[in-house]
Amino acid sequence: MITVAIANQKGGVGKTTTTINIATAMAATGWRVLVLDFDPQGNASTGLGVATANRTRSSYDLVIEGLSLAQCAYDTSIPNLSLVPATQDLSGAEVELVGMDDRTGRLRAAIEQAATRYDICFIDCPPSLGLLTLNALSAADTLLVPLQCEFFALEGLSQLLQTVERVQQRFNAELSIIGVVLTMFDRRNRLTDQVADDVRDCLGPLVFESVIPRNVRLSEAPSHGLPALIYDYQCAGSRAYIALARELIARLPAQRIAA
Ligand code: ATP
Ligand code: MG
Repeated sequence: MITVAIANQKGGVGKTTTTINIATAMAATGWRVLVLDFDPQGNASTGLGVATANRTRSSYDLVIEGLSLAQCAYDTSIPNLSLVPATQDLSGAEVELVGMDDRTGRLRAAIEQAATRYDICFIDCPPSLGLLTLNALSAADTLLVPLQCEFFALEGLSQLLQTVERVQQRFNAELSIIGVVLTMFDRRNRLTDQVADDVRDCLGPLVFESVIPRNVRLSEAPSHGLPALIYDYQCAGSRAYIALARELIARLPAQRIAA
């Protein structure tokens, strides 16, 4: 199993939308996909159609209570796509973890048990660099960063990259960055164009070619409990996520795919 953390401490940049739709695109092509909702807001769980009342077991149980991944994973309405949902409890985990042994390594230990059931696991991170995100980065093989095309985008990124370095030095030497995806791109807005150019100048080939446009269908889909890719697979947003999934697959380490 390849584990991809989707993180950016900035809020509302498209982490969850990216998680849900890439996961769906990959599941549709036959990958056995697990989405691990690691944000107490539970947006990925809602967006994948698992209502709050049906989240009897959650990522909190996985990380804090020591339940197994098999116990916490639910099937979704999407073939090949399973979900470990998140509940409000998870916001307490940030504090509870402080007093625990191996407080940054608990998620890694929990998901290692079920590494053969899935081909890929996406971890949707909360908008912070606290212990939940540190657990996700410690558990991940690689990091995917959604970056919103707006003025402060690059500032937040340097803080995230420092955190990645710290994780590499202390907890997970193998952690790589698979790429940065520009989100909410608005062709009519000259500032977003300028930001996209700056980001490409600064980060070069790390930035995916595919850019996710600002697209109302992407924001409507979660209220129907569906990935945009199923809600309206022909909309510009869905098409962009399919292209992104293709690029992502091409960047994944070949030896891990074969294993
Ligand atoms: P948080 O930090 O709160 O977890 P996030 O980074 O996960 O947020 P999303 O929840 O994916 O961000 O997106 C924030 C809001 O913007 C949501 O309402 C979502 O539906 C909307 N949104 C995301 N991507 C797009 C897009 N490309 N076009 C239009 N709306 C979008
Ligand atoms: Mg989110």
